[in-house]
Amino acid sequence: PAPAASTSSSTEALHQLDRQRIVHPYLPASTTERVVMTRGKASSLWDTDGREYLDATGGLWLAQVGHGRDELADVAASQMRELEYFTSFWEFSNQPAIELADRLVRLAPDEISKVYFTSGGSEGIEAALKMSRYHHYRRGKEEKTWILARERAYHGIAYGGGTASGFGMYHDGFGPMLPHVEHLTPPWPYRRDLFDGQDCTDFCIAELERTIERIGADNIAAMIGEPIMGVAGMVVPPDDYWPRVREVLRRNDILLILDEVVTAYGRIGSWFAAEHFNVDPDIIVTAKGITSGYFPLGAVLMSEDVAESLEADSGFPMGYTYNGHPTGCAVALANLHIIEHERLLARASEIGGYLLDKLSDELADLPRVGEVRGVGMMLGIELVADRDSREPLPNPQAVADAVRREHGVIVRDSAQGLVLSPALTLTRDEADRISAAIRAVLTTTH
Ligand code: PLP
Repeated sequence: PAPAASTSSSTEALHQLDRQRIVHPYLPASTTERVVMTRGKASSLWDTDGREYLDATGGLWLAQVGHGRDELADVAASQMRELEYFTSFWEFSNQPAIELADRLVRLAPDEISKVYFTSGGSEGIEAALKMSRYHHYRRGKEEKTWILARERAYHGIAYGGGTASGFGMYHDGFGPMLPHVEHLTPPWPYRRDLFDGQDCTDFCIAELERTIERIGADNIAAMIGEPIMGVAGMVVPPDDYWPRVREVLRRNDILLILDEVVTAYGRIGSWFAAEHFNVDPDIIVTAKGITSGYFPLGAVLMSEDVAESLEADSGFPMGYTYNGHPTGCAVALANLHIIEHERLLARASEIGGYLLDKLSDELADLPRVGEVRGVGMMLGIELVADRDSREPLPNPQAVADAVRREHGVIVRDSAQGLVLSPALTLTRDEADRISAAIRAVLTTTH
């Protein structure tokens, strides 16, 4: 049931105080009236006026088990009572972290053998980038410092990941960014103009080989990429892209870092996208779905080879206050248990497939819908101003806002359309509601 509505004056007072006191990212204070949420249950959220919303974005792409799960609140409370946190993770350890690391390694691809914990995705990306350079440094290959990334990538907002991210807005005004980062063409089949009329994978592989030749394999530490590019608009590469990239990198002693901050822990119907795309990375960065957002936690998974060089000599000189946070790790263990116990991997494929079909059927005839795509519960709708030229729709945010305002369904706009990533517990009725709301807005003039 919805909670009792607060008075409108308290909602207004909150809006005013919010504008006065908080610097929010991305949107300006002056023109944005932010909905203040108070409660969540499964895929529903309620605001201060008691209005219900269907959360089709699963928080920020992470609410695998849905909102308001008592089991996770109970685990957090009891771990906090027992041992909330203590001190440096270099001299000490704790049982939830040890058990979680073991669990992750057992779930991960065969190559993975050790885990480094962080508080979230951006910290994990920084760790992974540093690890890749340090790995080569420890092996006497100090020149291997370059990082290959892709245009339209998103790898968080710290300086390393922010530089690897392939959008100007994360660089402009923040420079100088990290040196020695090169951006390649994203494997985005719908954007055929990127590939000079060639097959998407053939083009990307030839470009990768040329780039390695130009910079020199002896100067490149790693390539980083999201298996499916989230912020770009849930861009799904052709099946042969990752295995072929992997082969080129291995031949050149360049590490592969998969940024699975969004794709891991069931979001696309597998524990890791590495499995889905049949690729074995040296380092996998994860966060978000590891706790379904109930606690800020990240985990960087790595091969024995990488772990061996990091742990040699005096160890890996990079530590955070919150490495291996016991409460976060306990919540993660309970969250993974729910994902397994409720068979949410299979459910992500089943309901995600249902939603993809539904959206494809109901939106296919609309002139502003260029492509509907996705895997599991990671879905994108590419919006265009013109279907023939595939020119992007200028303001997808207006569409996302209207879907929320007029239909109470929360969807996100991406660089070129809408993105959906509901809880893996989504029902078919909820999937129907999402599709109907988007169709209704796209058939009007927004
Ligand atoms: N990498 C990817 C692919 C992401 O989508 C995100 C966040 O959305 C990050 C990294 C950064 O994670 P965080 O926001 O937890 O720092």
